[in-house]
Amino acid sequence: MATDLAKIAAERGIKYFLISYVDLFGGLRAKLVPASAIGPMQRDGAGFAGFATWLDMSPADPDLFAVPDPDSLIQLPWKPEIGWLASDLVMDGKPVAQAPRTVLKTQLAAADGYTMKTGVECEYFLISADGTQISDAADNAVKPCYDQSALMRRYEVIREICDAMLSLGWGAYQNDHEDANGQFEMNWNYDDALKTADRHVFFKFMVRSIAEKHGLRATFMPKPFIDLTGSGCHIHVSLWKGETNAFSDPQGELGLSALGYSFIGGLIHNADALCAITNPTVNSYKRINAPRTVSGATWAPNTVTYTGNNRTHMIRIPDAGRFEFRLADGAANPYLLPAAVLAAGMDGIRNTRDPGKRLDINMYTDGHKVRGAKKLPLNLLDALRALDKSTVLRTALGAPLIDGFLKLKTQEWNDYSRHLTQWERTNTLDI
Ligand code: GLU
Ligand code: MG
Ligand code: MG
Repeated sequence: MATDLAKIAAERGIKYFLISYVDLFGGLRAKLVPASAIGPMQRDGAGFAGFATWLDMSPADPDLFAVPDPDSLIQLPWKPEIGWLASDLVMDGKPVAQAPRTVLKTQLAAADGYTMKTGVECEYFLISADGTQISDAADNAVKPCYDQSALMRRYEVIREICDAMLSLGWGAYQNDHEDANGQFEMNWNYDDALKTADRHVFFKFMVRSIAEKHGLRATFMPKPFIDLTGSGCHIHVSLWKGETNAFSDPQGELGLSALGYSFIGGLIHNADALCAITNPTVNSYKRINAPRTVSGATWAPNTVTYTGNNRTHMIRIPDAGRFEFRLADGAANPYLLPAAVLAAGMDGIRNTRDPGKRLDINMYTDGHKVRGAKKLPLNLLDALRALDKSTVLRTALGAPLIDGFLKLKTQEWNDYSRHLTQWERTNTLDI
C-alpha cells in the first residue's frame, strides 16, 4: 500500500478519520472512523446504505463502500485530530458509475491526453444561525462590494479560514466582501481539476464549520435574498499538454488559442443541457434570471454569450490562456461541475464548434439589441429537459449519472411545483 493511513495517523496525531463522499446533490456524507480501525477501511472502504443518500439507488441494493483516496487527506485545521478523506464509491466490487468523483475522473482520463486545470470562486453569505437574515445588520450599503468595514467586522471568521488554506498549502491569495450585503469570496490557486474539486468540497465544509464555530451560518445557496446579488461559483478553465497551456496563444484573439475557442464553442453549443448540472436547483434560476438587484447589477449571466473582460456574459476571457465560466452557482456539485464543463468543451474541440461572435457590450442593458442572443433556461425544468435531450452529455457522463440526476431533480421540481407562493395568493386570488 503506497500510503499507509494508520502510520500517518500515528505520526500526525490523527485520532479519527472522516471517510467522506459527495452524492449527486453535492452533499457530503461521511463515517467517522477511529484511527485504530482505518486499516481495513482503507482497503475495503466504509459501508453505507446507498439509497439513504441522493445517489439514485434502491433500498434492496447491497452495501455501498466508500474507499478513501489517501492522496486527498486533509487534517482539519480547526480540529487537527481529525483527518478528512475524499472517497470513491464501489458496489459489488465495481466502481459506482454515477458517483460524482468517479464521473470526473472518467472525464479527465478521456480528454484526448489533455490535463484540465481549474480554479473555482465559491461565493457565500454569512447569515444568522437561524438562516433568516445576513449576520451583520450594519452591512447595509447599497454598493457593499469590497466594503472594508463590513469585511473587517468579519475578520475573525475570514482570517481563520484563510489561515487554514495557507497552512494546507492551497496558495490562498485574497479575500473580499462581495457585491451583496453579507456576501464574501476567498480565492486560492488553480490546480489540476480533481485536486480543485476535492478542495472545493472541503472548502464548503470548512467555511460552514468555521462560521458555526463563530456562532454564524454560511450558505452557498445561489439566491438566498431576492433583491441581492446571488452566489456564483465561477470556474476558470485551461487545458494543458504536459507543461504547456494549450489555451495560450499570443497570436490568438485575447491570447486564447483556437483550441480554447473551440472549447468555448462546445460550452455555448451545449449550454442549456449543461445548465441543469451547473445550476442544479429550483433556486439557481432566480440568480441567473433576476431582473436587477439593489446594487444595480446581478453580475450573473442570462444569455449564452461570451466576451472579453466584461462581467455581463456567460463566459469572460479576462486574460490570455484561460477563460472564466460564470454560469455555475454555489449549488453546483464540485465534481459534476468540472466534469460537465469538460464534456461540453471536448465536444467543442472534437467538432471544432464555432463560438460565434464575441460581444463586447453590456449584456444587461444592450443585450436586447443583439439579434439571436440566446437566453439561458428560465427554470430547472427547462434545463432538465435540455439535459434529457443531450446526447453529448449522456454519452460523456454516462447514462447512470444522467438518468439518476434527471430522476431525482425532476422529483425536486415536482415537489417545488406543489407550493403556492404568497405572491400568487396576493395577486390572483380575486381574479
Ligand atoms: N455574485 C455574482 C454571480 O452571481 C458574481 C460577482 C463577481 O463577478 O464576482 O455570479
Ligand atoms: Mg465574485
Ligand atoms: Mg469571477
